[in-house]
Amino acid sequence: MTNAEETASMESAAGEKASGVGDDSRSAISPDPSFLGQVEEIGEERLTPCFQCVKCSGGCPLTFAMDVLPHQLVRMVQMGLKQEVLKSSTIWLCAGCETCSTRCPNGVSIAHLMDVLRQIALTEGVEPAEPEVAGFHTAFLDEIRAGGRLHEMGMVRRYKFRTRKWMKDAGLGWRMFSRGKLKLLPVRIRDREWLKKVIPRFRR
Ligand code: SF4
Ligand code: SF4
Repeated sequence: MTNAEETASMESAAGEKASGVGDDSRSAISPDPSFLGQVEEIGEERLTPCFQCVKCSGGCPLTFAMDVLPHQLVRMVQMGLKQEVLKSSTIWLCAGCETCSTRCPNGVSIAHLMDVLRQIALTEGVEPAEPEVAGFHTAFLDEIRAGGRLHEMGMVRRYKFRTRKWMKDAGLGWRMFSRGKLKLLPVRIRDREWLKKVIPRFRR
């Protein structure tokens, strides 16, 4: 299969998922004209230079699992399809590997865009398409906010309270603990005043 055929087949599969082909429950599309400005302002990055060359999606290792491909997501943001973007699985499945950002000829950082979209989704109370990933993301950030450093035991506790899947991965957790990979007590940063100033900047 040539690159062009591969991209067309990728787009067709993701397009069917995203558009809800065969799903009669899909609702009418209502674009939000302020969405592009909101995303560009929070991310401090312009998205209009994207000319849909598809190089980002061509290199992304996770397109097989995504419902919207990375270049399609950028186009949807440009078009103001806020709800469709914030409810997509893609914003939670992106691993932040930066392959797309490295390949983009226009310097668009899609990995950073995904962070911004996740943050808007959480701030605006949009129900995540991937609740377990969103739970992990929030538990991680809450632990950093609490002490400036990641305490794995604390993060696992927060994650378990969010997902209620108490026994999932319990065996793995015990093996890590017994090998000293999980510390019982957290190590917090000393300058808590600095932390109080920095955290609100990430919440913008
Ligand atoms: S690589 Fe850059 S310009 Fe090309 S589609 Fe992706 S974001 Fe747009
Ligand atoms: S950062 Fe996300 S969207 Fe970009 S290539 Fe990696 S997984 Fe794909």
